[in-house]
Amino acid sequence: MAACSPGGETWKLTGPTMGTRYHLTIVDAPDGVTREGLQSLVDSELVAVNQEMSTYIPDSELMQLNDGPVGEPVPVSAPLAEVVGLALDIYRRSEGAFDITVGPLVNLWGFGPTPEPQQVPAQAEIDSLLAQLGSDALVLERKPDRLTRKRPVQLDLSAIAKGYGVDRVARLLDDLGVANYLVEIGGELRTRGHNPDGREWRIGIESPTTAGHVVHKPVRVSNRAVATSGDYRNYYERDGVRYSHSIDPRTGRPLSHQLASVTVIADNCAEADGLATALNVMGADAGLQLAEREGLAVFMLVKTKDGFEERYSSAFAPYLEESET
Ligand code: ADP
Ligand code: MG
Repeated sequence: MAACSPGGETWKLTGPTMGTRYHLTIVDAPDGVTREGLQSLVDSELVAVNQEMSTYIPDSELMQLNDGPVGEPVPVSAPLAEVVGLALDIYRRSEGAFDITVGPLVNLWGFGPTPEPQQVPAQAEIDSLLAQLGSDALVLERKPDRLTRKRPVQLDLSAIAKGYGVDRVARLLDDLGVANYLVEIGGELRTRGHNPDGREWRIGIESPTTAGHVVHKPVRVSNRAVATSGDYRNYYERDGVRYSHSIDPRTGRPLSHQLASVTVIADNCAEADGLATALNVMGADAGLQLAEREGLAVFMLVKTKDGFEERYSSAFAPYLEESET
């Protein structure tokens, strides 16, 4: 579907990836780039990312690493080293709230490739997994890129992979000379240039209301990445208790605090994605403290008795300013 608009011709592309879908909006593609050609390049790029990092593909590079030797350095691809490096950085900055070795706990609580449990796991099971995991067991070396697992921990990049996929597609579009785009995978997104109306990109942050409606708060985000972590869509209920798919690595349990969602704006989407999960696990107060300390642009929705309260960091305020319409 091509639409004539002040900003040029607009293409919308979509397809399945990472258990969700990608959506691309391309404005005014350069000469020589066809819609079909572009879509097939995007599809191949995402297949490659999944083959590197998916926990759902038994022979992905990540799963081979998880089955590989312990206590000695294993060569890893540059993309995997880059993402693991970022994950370890966020692990340190969040003081362990973000931890890519939580996989076995994610599975135990029923959010991984193995289906949800029939009952809530026993404390003894949780404790024995907690004793083994921890990103402190990972040693990453760059150039040559090698990773050592000092203990047999399992890596799970699910909290950062969608954002990284967005970055890879964005890089592909940059290399092709596409100057105006919005790339989105399962809610994590990145923009460049202008939108189909020739204006800066604006997106709506979903904000649930008590009445069950969802409003969209407009945020100006040209040339930025945006990621949201929230439990109000990905959770299950058992005996009236709600279980989030984000696990607090310090307790081994799904998040149970009053934070409904965390949105982070950053330059790259992998970082925004990982940080959104990290800050969600940390909770509103500790999360906003980290945001202020590091100058991160963060918006949170906190559940209250009668609805939701908005809280955001100083660096987020400029994005909320009324833009010209
Ligand atoms: P959200 O958008 O809610 O943050 P993501 O899909 O980005 O969700 O991340 C959730 C996934 O990340 C989980 O399904 C699990 O595989 C993994 N995960 C859960 N808890 C953590 C954690 N504390 N640190 C890193 N990864 C986690
Ligand atoms: Mg995330």
